[in-house]
Amino acid sequence: MSETDLDAVVVGAGPNGLAAAVTLARSGLRVRVFERADQAGGGAATRELTLPGFQHDVCSAVHPLAFESRFFREFGLRHRVDFVTPELSFAHPLDGGRAGLAYRDLARTRSELGPDGRAYERLMRPLVERSSEVAEFTGSSLLRVPSSPATAVSFGLRALEQGSAAWNARFRGDVAPALVTGVAAHTILPQPSIAAAGAGLALGAYAHARGWPIPVGGSQAIIDALIDDLRAHGGDVVLDREVGSLGELPSARVKVLDVTPRTLLRWAGDLMPWRYRRALETFRYGGAVAKIDFALSDPVPWTHPEVRRAGTVHVGGTRAEVADAENEVNRGRLPERPYVLVSQPTLFDASRAPEGKHTLWTYTHVPSSSPADRAEAVIAQIERFAPGFRDTILAVHSRSAVEVEAHNPNYPGGDIAAGAPTLWQMIRRPALSLDPWRTPLPGVYLASASAPPGPGVHGLAGWFAARSALSNEFGRRALPDLSLRD
Ligand SMILES: Cc1cc2nc3c(=O)[nH]c(=O)nc-3n(C[C@H](O)[C@H](O)[C@H](O)COP(=O)(O)OP(=O)(O)OC[C@H]3O[C@@H](n4cnc5c(N)ncnc54)[C@H](O)[C@@H]3O)c2cc1C
Repeated sequence: MSETDLDAVVVGAGPNGLAAAVTLARSGLRVRVFERADQAGGGAATRELTLPGFQHDVCSAVHPLAFESRFFREFGLRHRVDFVTPELSFAHPLDGGRAGLAYRDLARTRSELGPDGRAYERLMRPLVERSSEVAEFTGSSLLRVPSSPATAVSFGLRALEQGSAAWNARFRGDVAPALVTGVAAHTILPQPSIAAAGAGLALGAYAHARGWPIPVGGSQAIIDALIDDLRAHGGDVVLDREVGSLGELPSARVKVLDVTPRTLLRWAGDLMPWRYRRALETFRYGGAVAKIDFALSDPVPWTHPEVRRAGTVHVGGTRAEVADAENEVNRGRLPERPYVLVSQPTLFDASRAPEGKHTLWTYTHVPSSSPADRAEAVIAQIERFAPGFRDTILAVHSRSAVEVEAHNPNYPGGDIAAGAPTLWQMIRRPALSLDPWRTPLPGVYLASASAPPGPGVHGLAGWFAARSALSNEFGRRALPDLSLRD
């Protein structure tokens, strides 16, 4: 395909850029994707980071949205990629050998939570039973009227409660609250806060509904499925091609950008109407992560034996301790005892490491643009709940927040959400509009996680951007069939 023949160009081969590319190619357009890295995938790439034979997810590892995203359901992702879904979605170890355990089975979760089992079940069950409706209204622009208002109200009331000073009112012990906050803390927002609680409740509902799946072989398997489909429909991906301005892109009717507002401003700030430019200039990037990957000789020796069966582990102690650590980060300080997000993929997928060996995926939150190497702090927190962990370490790969951004400019300052997911920023992402994927620049669309519905591997921002482009540039109201049959 010559560069003069293109109908659409996409910048960035992350999940959103590729979702847009697939949708446009399936509509019969000639599509080319330009990717700055030597490997496609962005936040869903898998690489050998430590030792030969150890495959690590460079960014995302666990995919609560793989089965809940409307785009992935249309695309038939679960029929194209092999997933393993742990029975124990996530665990939250506490001192004294105790732990909160969130099984896919909500009734089992309740029965193991002791005195707070019923309170936890009452909080979660209405959302678990309507997890698709939760995914539907949290998986688009929050300016849209939800198709299931009763679920939205039930969800909103719970987010208000768990995002307020009354968050402990329904609980008596410290295990269930820790379980809830461990998920809410994924957002890197202050605790408690409504946006953090909302994200935590949605992710918690998916954990008990369809589980938190892990792709066999690593997140790259999702990217490979998207690229296979793109190629099958005439599109292609050019690697090692960093785009430096809009002007250097081949002429094409549609330009879909899987980049942040910061990059878009640099490329075309002076061509934009004042109001839109101002919205991009005031778009705020949030707290950051430092990412630490391990090659291990053995599984992590968690004190609580059941934690050894969890796909994901939230490390950081009680609700109050996790909240303190997260609030420290939001004040611009490095917490002494940080919150650490851990995934144990090789417990479920032996293909990621040499026989009998393991990989461990972790990250911890740090202030924006922190240059700190947090490997020691992470090891100490894991040791607290798994004495002997240090002795299992064969190799460590540590990336500071500064290095996370250098690896991928879509994470400014190390912000993996590509824009702080506060309530206001989830409403105006990146500018207040009923069609937030369309920019005021002719034919230019924003497809990244900086557009609705925000962070996560779901492909929805790309799918919505492609839908907007097809409608606005080609007058096509119907989206193409994305199913495997085609
Ligand atoms: C450490 C970490 C852990 C995460 N964990 C999870 C998780 O477990 N589950 C989950 O669902 N989500 C997770 N996420 C978030 C998730 O990875 C992102 O929200 C998601 O990848 C966003 O997709 P995207 O396509 O918008 O952007 P990206 O995946 O970041 O892709 C953007 C692509 O554009 C390319 N690009 C940028 N600028 C240019 C340019 N000028 N020219 C050419 N190419 C360019 C980049 O190289 C990149 O490949 C994590 C992210 C990180 C960093």
